[in-house]
Amino acid sequence: MSSQGRTIVRKQGMFFALACLAAAALLPPGAMAKGAGTCTAGTTLRLSAPESSQGSLLLIEVKSAKPLSEVQGDWGGRSVPFWREVASETRRKGLLGVDLEKAPGAYALKVTGQTTRGEKMSCSATVTVRKGRFATEKLQVGKQFVEPSPEQIKRADEERQKLRDIFDRVTPERLWDGKFRMPLDGVTTGSNFGRRRILNGNPGTPHGGVDLPGTTGTPVHAAQRGKVALAEELFFSGNTVVLDHGLGIYTFYGHLSEIDAKVGDTLEAGAALGKVGATGRVTGPHLHWGLTVERARVNPLHIVKLLENE
Ligand SMILES: [Zn+2]
Repeated sequence: MSSQGRTIVRKQGMFFALACLAAAALLPPGAMAKGAGTCTAGTTLRLSAPESSQGSLLLIEVKSAKPLSEVQGDWGGRSVPFWREVASETRRKGLLGVDLEKAPGAYALKVTGQTTRGEKMSCSATVTVRKGRFATEKLQVGKQFVEPSPEQIKRADEERQKLRDIFDRVTPERLWDGKFRMPLDGVTTGSNFGRRRILNGNPGTPHGGVDLPGTTGTPVHAAQRGKVALAEELFFSGNTVVLDHGLGIYTFYGHLSEIDAKVGDTLEAGAALGKVGATGRVTGPHLHWGLTVERARVNPLHIVKLLENE
């Protein structure tokens, strides 16, 4: 660390160290390295990447010289869920979800908290969002999906609102522990995240999850421990299960041929929650897998990667 109080951006494994000197606050405007942040004395903030893009997820690590009692984050008016590292009084981790349609630009991240002795700590950083690179696909589908009947529109609107209400609820406890797994055995990647679809000439909403290949009847596993928040048939995603993992983190499983869970059940990581199918608005069997972090729709493959060493 520089004795002149200059902010140092240093690569540490997958992390980029983001400043930690109280003196950095004294730097003249514009002197700070891009993406760097500052913290009060004795605290460091690290991000898993120096900048982000639409639909991505960043891991944040806060480290303090003194035991921490609480840490919270705010990123452009959205709260950032933080949790305590097992057996660590001085470290907290958090996930920053960048919604798939968040406008590109620079957004201020503010982390505040206090030590067990009541001393205040804070860190600030700028997280830049780049435009995501998503494919655009033109597709012809059954007329009933492009021009739904008034009843279907009403149903789809009600279901969208129901999902929004679920994602707005933040369960304060972290229900999961460890890494997140892929929901299908033997499947390591998915496709179509963020894809813009032009259906029969009309632009639709972007694809909010990844599609995982699977044949009808293949068991679908809970990506981590969580509580079933929804288990029913929806107009667009067919038989659907939504799991609440706590801290505003939800996973979504769509187009199931069969649902093997009910609302309120707590499922352990890897528990079977249903089977791959082709229900809802699909052209063939596959699993639609989604991830929502504090209402931001992000690529679920990112949580598998970011927490693989947990
Ligand atoms: Zn899909």
